[in-house]
Amino acid sequence: MSDSTGLRPDTVVVTGGRPEPVHDAPVSPAVVLTSTYRGAGEMTDTDRGYGRMSNPTWEDFEGVLGRLEHADLPALAVASGLAAVGTVMSLVPVGGRVVMPTHAYQGSQVLVDDAQRAGHFTVTRVDVTDTQAVLEAADGADLVWLESPTNPMLEVADLPEILAATRASGVLTAVDNTFATPLLQRPLTLGADMVVHSVTKYLAGHSDVVLGAVLTSDPDLWVRLKHHRTINGAIPGTFETWLALRGMRTLSLRVERSGRSALDLAARLAEHPAVTRVRYPGLTSDPGHVRAAAQVDGGYGAIISVELATDADGAQRVVEALEVWTPATSLGGVESLVERRRRHHDEPATVPESLLRLSVGIENVEDLWADLDRALATVRLGS
Ligand SMILES: *Cc1c(COP(=O)(O)O)cnc(C)c1O
Repeated sequence: MSDSTGLRPDTVVVTGGRPEPVHDAPVSPAVVLTSTYRGAGEMTDTDRGYGRMSNPTWEDFEGVLGRLEHADLPALAVASGLAAVGTVMSLVPVGGRVVMPTHAYQGSQVLVDDAQRAGHFTVTRVDVTDTQAVLEAADGADLVWLESPTNPMLEVADLPEILAATRASGVLTAVDNTFATPLLQRPLTLGADMVVHSVTKYLAGHSDVVLGAVLTSDPDLWVRLKHHRTINGAIPGTFETWLALRGMRTLSLRVERSGRSALDLAARLAEHPAVTRVRYPGLTSDPGHVRAAAQVDGGYGAIISVELATDADGAQRVVEALEVWTPATSLGGVESLVERRRRHHDEPATVPESLLRLSVGIENVEDLWADLDRALATVRLGS
């Protein structure tokens, strides 16, 4: 699907955010390091003003991400994915109510639990696959937070149906689109008010940047979100935004390659005797498959969760037997990462002890499989 300029996303990531095409212009954008800007007379809203308010290097990145998400306005880059979550949550009035999926990024869960404990707002948790339950909880809420697929259970929400209903009833919505990336899923086009990204993951793509972004097509929301960024100082590092744009140049290649490998590995894992369950919406046997197929564009992402025929220690031994895969939290980089999610003490008990989350990178898929197959042999199967 092309954006308003008629260019397709795999072109936009390459051509966007470049200097004016004039003779002798650099092909690559500059890293503009400055804390302030020359100004005269009264300061206006369009003045650059000061380094906490705006930066040309941020804008190179923000313009490209805005186009990828089909937003009418540029993205707002912030210090991290969680700063993006916090920026959106700042819109919830004191005494308000937020609807959260039972399974969602752990940091987002901690953030809303902290806010609830401090008396800022209350939280209603719902099974995000149960559209009726989501819409009932949304009634009278101040914000509906959605993640699809969810971390780490890979549950798929019916985004078109939920977002059409919340749009009609005027309930504010935000979708964490980190797992899908705007190449596969564009929630603003389905009626979401806001989208957030951990740019740290696929967008930057090389596990060397921590960065976040918020998007909206609503001018009033955009101004409020930007104001929050400025006044809370949740601003991105200039070099980080430059690196993120540099990483995004290859986003379409990385998403395509890692998605293809993930589908291949998920199918092989589903046949492996040491694996009791594979969660990957690209598998036709996955409970989220039909829904995902109807709402994504060209792939199912590159995160797979597997449950193993063993306990926590056995699953940990598999992780430690891997050589090509790196045992680490995080996801979305060129290198394949694996993690037993319950090693985090705040991961909900509904996440099985033996669940491993795999973030498939861009290595040769046969090397990835050989390594997995060898490590899975450490699981002692009962007769
Ligand atoms: C990592 C992640 C975040 C938080 O982003 P940071 O950049 O680590 O602050 C939020 N949502 C999802 C889905 C993530 O994977």
